[in-house]
This record gives sequence, structure tokens and C-alpha cells, in this order.
Amino acid sequence: MTEERREFQAEVAKVLDIVIHSLYSDNEIFLRELISNASDACDKMRYALLVHPELVSQTGQFHISIIPDQKAGTLTIEDNGIGMNKEDLINHLGTIARSGSSEFMKNLTGDKQKDMALIGQFGVGFYASFMVADKVTVRTKKAGDETGWIWESEGAGSFTIREDKEAPFGTAVSLHLKKDMTDYLEPIRIRHLIKQYSDHIAWPIVLKEGGKSETINAASALWTRNKKEITDVQYKDFYQSVSHAFDVPWMTLHYKAEGIIDYTALLFIPTKAPFNLFQPDRPSGIQLYTNKVFITDEVPDLMPYFLRFVTGVIDTNDLPLNVSREMLQKTPVMSKIKKGIVHRILGELKKRAEKPEDYRTFWDSFGIVFKEGLYEPIDERAEVAELCRFHSTAGDDLVSFSEYINRMKPGQENIYYLTGTDLETLKVNPQLEGFAARGMEVLLLTDPIDEFWVQTFTEYKGKKIVSVMHARSDIDAVQAAQSDLGEPISKEAGDVLIKRFKEVLGDSVGDVRMTDRLTKSPMALITPEGQMSLNLERLMRAHGQATSFDSTRILELNPRHPIISRLSALADEANASEKVTDGIWVLFDQALIAAGEPIRNPADFSERLNRFIISGLRS
Ligand code: ADP
Repeated sequence: MTEERREFQAEVAKVLDIVIHSLYSDNEIFLRELISNASDACDKMRYALLVHPELVSQTGQFHISIIPDQKAGTLTIEDNGIGMNKEDLINHLGTIARSGSSEFMKNLTGDKQKDMALIGQFGVGFYASFMVADKVTVRTKKAGDETGWIWESEGAGSFTIREDKEAPFGTAVSLHLKKDMTDYLEPIRIRHLIKQYSDHIAWPIVLKEGGKSETINAASALWTRNKKEITDVQYKDFYQSVSHAFDVPWMTLHYKAEGIIDYTALLFIPTKAPFNLFQPDRPSGIQLYTNKVFITDEVPDLMPYFLRFVTGVIDTNDLPLNVSREMLQKTPVMSKIKKGIVHRILGELKKRAEKPEDYRTFWDSFGIVFKEGLYEPIDERAEVAELCRFHSTAGDDLVSFSEYINRMKPGQENIYYLTGTDLETLKVNPQLEGFAARGMEVLLLTDPIDEFWVQTFTEYKGKKIVSVMHARSDIDAVQAAQSDLGEPISKEAGDVLIKRFKEVLGDSVGDVRMTDRLTKSPMALITPEGQMSLNLERLMRAHGQATSFDSTRILELNPRHPIISRLSALADEANASEKVTDGIWVLFDQALIAAGEPIRNPADFSERLNRFIISGLRS
């Protein structure tokens, strides 16, 4: 018999290296992972039978056997599910196909304990075997195939595959336990672990020991049981098992909908955001069952994109067992279920939002995704908006649109915001000065998605949502604290100065004008309404989607600032021409810096600045 030796994909080798050498205290999860795989294999086989009923002779009652062998020191997890062919073995047990794995790899630190915790979050599935075994043998035969295979590995670097004509249908994973792991052969320990982690598995889990067979789990789908009889721990274990997660669910939503469409939903919102939340090809976290039979975990479009972190199970009797993907896409059943679950989830979130501290946990993990709901073309945008929270100039607490509106100043008509990449820089942005002087609150938006929703979601409860750069006349209606504002230069002097600025700066700006929105800074750059904001342009440039520097930005001058009045006084003097030019350029470059923009000629900037410093030092 020929044996083929193959190398693990580099990522797998790295993961295995950590797994093998870790002293991970939670190593007992290996059993849960292997049972979960065996259960999936049975689900897949049952589904396959719907399409290929002729395969029925190749399987019996679906079940998962756990077989400890004290003498050999092995623990075997066996199923009569779909099995694997040679290609499956190479692809599934030699690579990590899961999306998000490259991100996950980037996060590895080299510190084994820390990395192990990361691996815990990522979920290692089958590879968890190597936490407890120094050799793993997989004997398997795929439904419909002529021959079976044996896959074997000691975890380090490579695995072997050889043919096994005698292998029965299904899969048997045998763990050659490490010397200090043999307590996993104790029936008491096994019983306890199965009860703890795998009780909800829909197939019987049978412990085979000394000629006896004993079914250990309840083998009834958890979501079909009465809510009152399910403990928090059972919900948590189920969540961890369906989601391959290690945290506790932040929210558990279990209900039965009866009406036009009957379905049961058991849904979870994790506490921690998973690694691959922003991976475009990320698999959905929702499993679809019909009448307790697993159909698929790839229901197209079951969850709106902004709720893609929700995991769990939907079980409905209103779909035929042999429903196809195309049909799932078209059937009104699915769209009705979708409407129903979105409604329920938003309703639950609303209740939880009443406790800000609790809600903050959710928002910190998923707010950045949830806000996509303001952008997605959905019917529930108003509800989504109600549940959104933002940083603001009012303090460290997150605020909702409604709270903002309640605090609006008399005369203020709009909800104002400022976008940028980080909170600390935003807080000192000159654009906020006029608002601060008037005691007006401004929402500070720092996530990339904010740039997008502000363009489509422009009104909340009759209030326009407006960038501080495009402040309307209502800002003038709000009284500023007098002491914060000095006397402005005259309109005529202003016009002369503006003309001078335009001559000097030329194409570098689209327009120059006076503003009331600045108090401390002499000037600031803004973008005209309807145009890409500076921050968005930066984001696009970072993604290679915008190249040029948009020249239609507007320079706004503060007519009450001493620098501006001094420049205005010099603007007419012929012998001060060079000084004024220097001043205008230095100020302009400063405005760029304040807006988080690069200045275009740093050498020129420092030369001009140095001239000022010297004249300053002389006097
Ligand atoms: P995951 O289960 O998250 O996909 P695993 O590493 O646990 O990741 O398993 C990788 C793949 O190997 C599974 O998706 C499945 O295709 C295959 N596999 C693992 N165990 C079995 C089994 N008992 N029967 C059939 N296929 C299996």
C-alpha cells in the first residue's frame, strides 16, 4: 500500500505548533469540536439522502460513538455521516479555509499563552485534537465512494494519507492521547464532558465501553425544548457550539413565531466581535433547519448585512426538506422570516439599550457594523437610528440622536457632526470652536462607515443631520458667550484681505471667505456641501481610490482673530508684501495640518516659518 506524505499549509503548521506546545487549561474543548464535526457530518449525510436516496444502504441510524480504549491509550470519535474522500482530507485537514484566518495569523504574537487565547477566539476545530493527542488517525470513507482512506499525523509539519479498502462509511477520529491526558479515557469524565458541551446535539452520542453502549446526551434539538426548562448554561454551551465561540452570548433570543409563517428562532449576539467580521466572504452564522432537519448554513441574505454578527438557528416547517438554494433565494417564506427576526432583534436591543452600561458592551463590539444599517437600503432605518450611539463633544458617554435633540440649544435646528479618524484629533478640530462658544453639542464620528451613512441618512425625527462644515444660519441664532468672541474686522477690510489670500494661494483653494464658526483659530479648511469630506478623501486615498488632492476646498477666515486683523492691516502696505505672502502660506499649511492633511511642500513651510521666528526673536 502506498503512503503519501504531505506538508501542512504554513498557517496550519503555525497553529499546530502553538496548539501542541500549549498548556491550555481548556483543552477539554477538543471533544466538543470533534463531536460537532461528527454531528455536522451526520447532518450533511441526511441532507444528501434527500437528493440521493440510493445511498440509504450505506448508512444506518445516525449516531456518534465515543470509544475509549484503555489498553491502546486511544479515544475514538466515530460517526456514520458523510465521510471524506482523499481530496477532502487534504483540503479540510491540511489547510485552514476559514475566512479571517489571515487576519488571525497577523494577530499572533509569538507568546504562546497569548496566542493560545487568540486561537481560542478563532476556534481551531479539528486541530484542537493535538492539544491532547500526540498522534491522530482519521479513518474515513465518503458516501457513494468505492474506497476509504487513512489520514495520520503527529501534528509537526506533515501528515500521511493511504488507501484503506476496508474502511466503513463515515469517519472515525482516533486520538493517541498524550501520557498526561489519559484521564480522558475515564467514562465518568467523558459522560460529564458530553453532558456539559454536547447535550443539545441532535444525534445520539453513544459511549461504548466494555461491551456496553450508553446514550449520554438528551439528543433533542435545544431550540425545540421549552424555554423554561433551558438553563443559561445550556444556552451558553449551545451558543459556543454553533458559533465555535469561547465567549458568553451577550444576548440570547429564543422564541416561536406563529402566524402566517411558523418558525422557531434561537439567536445570539456574541459579547466579543469575531475576527472575520469584515471579511466579505464570511460565512453566515445562521443555520437553517426545517422540521429539525439541518438544511444549510448558507442561506443567502437571511440576515441583513448590518446584523451579520448574529448567530444561531432558525427552524421552520414552512419549507420543503429538499429546498434548493435558488428556491431559498426566491421564496417569500424566507423574506417573511427575515422581517420577523430583524423586528425581534431590534426590539430586544431597544430593551437592552435602556441600560447604557450593558448596551455599551454591545456597542463597543458591534456598533461599527450596526451603523451600516443607516446605509443599507432597509425598511427599519428609523429603528436602527434610534439604537445608534455616538461620541460627542458633551462628554465621555455615548449619546443617541434623541438625547442630542433633547439637549439642542434654543434656536438650533440641526444635528451637527464632525467626521475624522480619531477622537482626540477631532476634539481639538478648529471647526468645533464656534460650537463650543455657543454651548452647542457636536457628534464626533470616527468610523469609516460614518462617512457613508451621513450621505444617505440625512434626517432624524425632522432634524437635518449636518456637517459642522456646512453649518446653517441656525448657528447665528444661538447666542455665544460674549467673552469668547472679539470684535471682527470690517466687511471692507475683510474683502481686501480675501482678495489677497486668493492671489497668494491661487489654485490651492476653491474659495476664501469669512466665518463665524471659529474662535481660537485664525482659519480652517472645509469642503463644500455635497463634496467628499477631507476625511473621506483620505480614506479613499488610503484605498487607492482617489489620487489627486481635491482643490475645491474652501478656506475660512476668522475675522475676530488677532492674526487676521494684523494681516488685514498689512494687506495694503506695499513694503509688507513678502511678509503677508509668507504669513498666508504658513497659515494655510497650518490649516492643512489641523485638518489632518499633509502639507505639500514641507521645506517651503519651514523656510517661511523660520523667517517669522527670526523676526519674532529679533523684536
Ligand atoms: P470546521 O468544522 O469549523 O469547518 P474543522 O477544522 O473542525 O473546522 O474541520 C474542517 C473540515 O473537515 C470540516 O468543515 C469538514 O468538512 C471536515 N471534517 C471534519 N471532521 C469531519 C467528520 N467527522 N466527517 C466529515 N468531515 C469532517
